Amino acid sequence: MFAVMQVETDERREFRRKMRTKCEFVCKYCQRRFTKPYNLMIHERTHKDDITYTCEVCGKTFKRQDNLKQHRTIHSPSCNRPFGYAWRF
Ligand SMILES: [Zn+2]
Ligand SMILES: [Zn+2]
Repeated sequence: MFAVMQVETDERREFRRKMRTKCEFVCKYCQRRFTKPYNLMIHERTHKDDITYTCEVCGKTFKRQDNLKQHRTIHSPSCNRPFGYAWRF
């Protein structure tokens, strides 16, 4: 009884292993394949990092839109004051 149960779990484990290898997650940017969705998620993030935001005033590039927004304030002095005020918190 006990031995049968052990065989069963081994089979189930093997089945799960096969399922996992069959299940492929493909990157929509470069078609690279991953067995785990987590790995694909991490990988796809590297593609998103390639997107750069360019300041139309001085041409400086930023990886994040909020970084560009923050940078833009140096070109408009009127925006500087409330931003500097926010830094106090
Ligand atoms: Zn990719
Ligand atoms: Zn700029």
